[in-house]
This record gives sequence, C-alpha cells and structure tokens, in this order.
Amino acid sequence: MRYTSLDAIREEIGRGALTCQALVEQYLQNISEKRHLNAFLEVFEEEARQQAAEVDAKLQAGTAGKLAGMVIGIKDVLAYEGHTLQAASQILNGFKSLFTATAVQRLRAEDAIIIGRQNCDEFAMGGSNENSSFGPTLNDLDNTRVPGGSSGGSAAAVQANLCLASIGSDTGGSVRQPAAYCGVVGMKPTYSRISRYGLVAYASSFDQIGVMTHSVEDAALLLEVMAGQDEFDATVSQRPVPAYSQNLSFEGKARIGFIKDSFDSPGLNPEIKAATQAVLDALQAEGHTVEGVDFPFLDYIVPTYYILTTAEASSNLGRYDGVRYGFRSENATDLASMYKKTRAEGFGKEVQRRILLGTFVLSADYYDAYYTKAQQVRRLIKEKTDELLSQYDFLIVPTTPTTAFKIGENTKDPLAMYLEDIYTVQANLAGIPAISLPMGHDSQGLPIGVQVMTKAFGEEQLFAFSKHLMTHQPQETV
Ligand code: GLN
Repeated sequence: MRYTSLDAIREEIGRGALTCQALVEQYLQNISEKRHLNAFLEVFEEEARQQAAEVDAKLQAGTAGKLAGMVIGIKDVLAYEGHTLQAASQILNGFKSLFTATAVQRLRAEDAIIIGRQNCDEFAMGGSNENSSFGPTLNDLDNTRVPGGSSGGSAAAVQANLCLASIGSDTGGSVRQPAAYCGVVGMKPTYSRISRYGLVAYASSFDQIGVMTHSVEDAALLLEVMAGQDEFDATVSQRPVPAYSQNLSFEGKARIGFIKDSFDSPGLNPEIKAATQAVLDALQAEGHTVEGVDFPFLDYIVPTYYILTTAEASSNLGRYDGVRYGFRSENATDLASMYKKTRAEGFGKEVQRRILLGTFVLSADYYDAYYTKAQQVRRLIKEKTDELLSQYDFLIVPTTPTTAFKIGENTKDPLAMYLEDIYTVQANLAGIPAISLPMGHDSQGLPIGVQVMTKAFGEEQLFAFSKHLMTHQPQETV
C-alpha cells in the first residue's frame, strides 16, 4: 500500500475497503520492515492501535474529527504527555513529558493517530541527521545517503511510507531541507503562526513547527488544525486562521521573483538549477510574470543565522545542568564539576560547538562585533526580503544547493554543512512562510526540491499556488 493523501484514505474508508485499525497495522508493518532506516526512536504500537479503534468507532458514529485516518509521526522535540522526549540527546536521558505540546494536542483533538517519535539531529542542530545520539537516519532511496536534517527521521518516515505525515521543527530549514532530500512536501509557516508550547527550544527568535506530507492538501489541512492563538504561548499570533484546505484553487496571474544571486551561486548543483529554471519557464509560459531580482545579502545569510542561533542556543540550553532534567554525570565530585561533567558527557560534539560559539559571540569583548552586528544584518535581510515581497507575490529559489549527500561526506567540515542551509535560512531570518515542493530527480535518481516563499501570513496563497505548481512536476520514469 502507498497512500499519498488523507483524501485517498478517507475515500477507501468511506467505501468500506479500509479501517483505521487496518491502516495502522500496515504502517506498523512498514515500520518494522524498514527498521534499518532508523527513522523512529520509539513506535507507539499499542497506543496507535487503540487510537485507531477509537477513531473507527467515531467514524461509524459520524462524530470523527477532520484528521480521522491521518497517521502521524512526531519529531523528538515535541512534548507528548507520558512519553519520552529527548531531542535525540543523551542529556535528556530518562526524561518524560509532563504535558502535551499544543500542536500535538490539536492534532489529537481532530482524531489524528500518533504512531511514534522520530529521530533527528540533537536539539535540531544539523542538516543531515548525523548529529543524533541514536545514530543517523538513512535515506530510503539510497541507504548510503542522508535524509537531510534536522527533521531527518520525520522526512524519511513520510518518504518510506511509515506514516502519512510528520510534524517537525524548522529553525533554519529543518523541515524544508529534509523534505527536499526525501522527495516530499515540507512547509514552514510564518514565525508565530503555530504555538511553540511544548516544543524544545533551539533558537527562539527562529523556531517554528512545520509539516511534512506527500500532498499540499494535507499540509494545508495540518496547518489549519495546528495554527492559531494559544494561552500557553505568548509569542503566538492572535490572527484568525484561514481554512487553508478549503481555498486551494489559485486564480489569476502571479508576479514571481527569482533571486538571481542564488541561481548564480557556484555551489549550486546544475541539475537543481535546471529543475528550478524549468518551473520558472513553465510559469512564464502560462502567463505569470517571472523576473530575476537582486538580493545583495546572500553571502551574509549563513553567518548571520549561525551567529544569532548559536547565541540563542547557548542561552536556551543553559537549563540542561544535571539538576532539572534527565541525565546527571556520575563522575562529579562537587557542584561545579557536576554541571561541567553533566554537560560534557550529555551533549554531543555539534551541540557543544554551538554552545561555545554562542557563548563567544555573546561575551563582553565580542558582543558588539558579532551579536549586535548580526542583529543589524538580520534587520537588513528582513527589510530587503519584505521589500521584494511587496513587489512580487512569490520568491522562488532552490531548497538546497545539492541533493542528498553521502553519510559522512560533510561531517569533518562543519562549514560545508552550514552552507547547505544557504537557501532555507532566509525565510527564518525574515520570519516568512516557505514551502519545499518535490520537483523531479537528478541523474542519480535523488529528489530535487524547489522552494517558494511569500509574505508573512500569506500561507493561504502559498498553498494554493503550491498546489498549482505540483502540476508542473516533471513526468519521469525513475
Ligand atoms: N541546518 C540548520 C542548523 O543546523 C537548520 C536546523 C533547524 O532548522 N533546526 O541550524
């Protein structure tokens, strides 16, 4: 079986050919056959079966919610009461959530079935899933390659048909980049659109929850369910949430800008460039306006992002001290050594690197040179992006400069790894919504993602336009 939309599942349920219980059994079977992918850190077998039985009863009674039939995996950064939550880190060893994240709560309230907790880079820091303390997740199309990250387990699970959709988090591309590497849809909404109550904090002025699905329709429906005000998160937007899934037809002609600097950057794989160009050509042929635009800050995007996110992370991760959560070193001799040893033993290399970098850029002597300067550059990037989006409905760029790379290929070179984020972090720096859509494959059969950005709170038009763009997926025989 291979379901690629909730509609298809509901249609089969409707004509009596499928039940949620049978569906869950199929997914559990797939998960066990694909255990080598290491996509799930924990499978909630019995609970998922029980939830399925309850949803079947509700479907019979005509009282089922919008997400009945949707089987979802959640990234290991989302709290789910009574379940382990580790952010794929040893420092949270033994920690269980005391409450459920608002986003997950809302999915459950609409009868989604939660099938398990998914692998990711430790504290969502990474772009390949190689920073998980539970080992890497593998890309299902080629097991020698990464699925991307940090929501790598979540993307691979949708790719390999281990659940219909996944919920991840996106601080600098962690939903869109793995979606691109795995050939699925990945969407990050406007900063503040979804409550972050119950999301493990990485860099709080960037973090957003996002979705990974096969179809734009399912992404729209999931956002509609999760978004909106929440008394537990003071940073969430109070704006009403449109019925995204009901307004998916794109009418009229769009004004589309493509960022020339991104297209001309030397690190861009020519096949990704060609695939993006093909989409732009097709849109132009349909009568949309397609124009190249200048964005003079491309070289500053990655450094600005890494200065600000490491600074915020160094502060956010201060709470893991051996006292409040999970793990405590057994080698401590006094209070100070308890803190030090707990953090040295509990955090992995990349997380330690980022805490050190963050502490450095915030230190008194360097604060103005790095942190203040990066805040100023962030403002310039945001203002320029907003200006472009006042002239154009959408900005189109590749999601990533390369397709899925080999496991181990970039691990010795953090800079090369960070540069993979060059096209995704702009949306986080500017706080705008962005989506990665699968647009064919390269000559090695690896998926290519094309990214569309729009202005803050423009999700409705973004989904409608994306659904239209999916009709431009190349016809190929892979
Ligand atoms: N790869 C980026 C990083 O390592 C993005 C991570 C994310 O979005 N969580 O920071």
